[in-house]
Amino acid sequence: MPVIPQYFQQEMPAISRADQAPLASSNPTTTAPLPIRRHRFPTPKLRLHLNQLSHEGSSIFLSNTKGNEDLETQVQNVLNLLYAPDDHRPGTRSVTFVLRSMDGVAYTDGTDLDSDHKEIHFNLNYITGIQGDARHEMLGVICHELVHCFQYNARGTCPGGLIEGIADWVRLRAGLAAKHWRQEADGKWDGGYQHTGFFLDYLEGRFGEGTVRKINGWLRGRKYDEKTLFADCCGGHAVGDLWEDYKKVLKSQGEGQSTGHEDAPPPVPTHAV
Ligand SMILES: [Zn+2]
Repeated sequence: MPVIPQYFQQEMPAISRADQAPLASSNPTTTAPLPIRRHRFPTPKLRLHLNQLSHEGSSIFLSNTKGNEDLETQVQNVLNLLYAPDDHRPGTRSVTFVLRSMDGVAYTDGTDLDSDHKEIHFNLNYITGIQGDARHEMLGVICHELVHCFQYNARGTCPGGLIEGIADWVRLRAGLAAKHWRQEADGKWDGGYQHTGFFLDYLEGRFGEGTVRKINGWLRGRKYDEKTLFADCCGGHAVGDLWEDYKKVLKSQGEGQSTGHEDAPPPVPTHAV
């Protein structure tokens, strides 16, 4: 049974002014993602452990990725989307990718010795079962997990839904949205994953480039306070009101911006362990 990182235990198992553009531009498969700033941040040490080389998932991974390019590219995507070049960043010094058979899809954890050294565990059985574009899906999962290596979490007090929403917002903006993602506004704003990720993209459009970066920065070094967080980052508004506005916008554009893959299986939460 894998150790579940602290921020998953709480509540759940670049860029233009989009207020001047239709929300449908967020649709992950009909419109190319906007360009990401290409500052080159220092890359932590990256390591890859293939624990079961004879597993079909290992073969699929090796055949569809370039270890010397793809992993660092995703690190740069994550850092460019979450931080300006001079922003304070977490002191992550290494990331080890561990491909092995386990339950679920993937998870990220610190090591026993030092939380600045991260491990991303990726399930080989999940990789074997990917339908369609294996490279796209694998890089998407890796991008999502790398966000957990570099994001702030209000000293462990940030709700899991927002943590996961930021991770899927980065994945969306990196052009790696899962094919079956669907933009909808059912339930609460912090339902997590792409549900919250698309909402964050709406906020990024409404309040300008860097809004999600600002939210992440707000989560540094202090305890979570929903009211103050959104007041500071979103023009004094309450997140409940923003969620209602978002619902209206989606409704005016037709319910649910689907990806056109109506027969696709429902979304798989990255941490469904
Ligand atoms: Zn996650």
